[in-house]
Amino acid sequence: MKIIVASGNKGKIKEIKKILNSYDVIPYTELIEPFEIEENGRTFKENAIIKAKAIYEKLPENIVIADDSGISVPALNNEPGIFSARYAGENASDKDNLNKLINELKKRNIKKTPAFYTAAIAIATPYGVFTTHGFMYGDVIDEARGEKGFGYDPMFIPKGYNKTLGELDESIKQKISHRVKALDLAQKIIKVL
Ligand code: IMP
Repeated sequence: MKIIVASGNKGKIKEIKKILNSYDVIPYTELIEPFEIEENGRTFKENAIIKAKAIYEKLPENIVIADDSGISVPALNNEPGIFSARYAGENASDKDNLNKLINELKKRNIKKTPAFYTAAIAIATPYGVFTTHGFMYGDVIDEARGEKGFGYDPMFIPKGYNKTLGELDESIKQKISHRVKALDLAQKIIKVL
């Protein structure tokens, strides 16, 4: 069975392929011209649905999966949340966003505080749209440690560890990540379609 991913992001495609390894996983950009999708939802779930539906409309009768993810810090009113990819501005890099979150903690003299990653997956199918979620809990600290992972990983210490995801081996993140958990649940839905 063919599964179309509503993203051209190589990292995401690789992760999705690893989990849905018995399916033919194809980025939508291999089938149609890439186009801008406005992510104007109020939640991760809404944004994932917007992306999956936008691609499904152009490639109907297929299974399309989309994800939306980010990090939330309760001490900062759950910021950056759905704005994680553009926290430091519309064209901000991962590094800009990481530094902005570090600065927001420093401004408030917070050295370490609870935080969590969320991943929402939407699966658009001829039977309708289904969604799953995955979470990874831990703490954020007011400095970046390590070079592994991406985005906010160098400042995130997962629950049960004392190193950041920038320092820990990537095989650990593969076992505990929000995206992996949401994809495992998505796989259960796809299996019975
Ligand atoms: P999306 O591509 O719209 O889902 O944006 C996700 C954003 O959330 C990324 O740009 C990262 O800033 C952040 N993010 C999501 N998942 C992770 C992760 O596993 N590690 C680090 N940052 C993440």
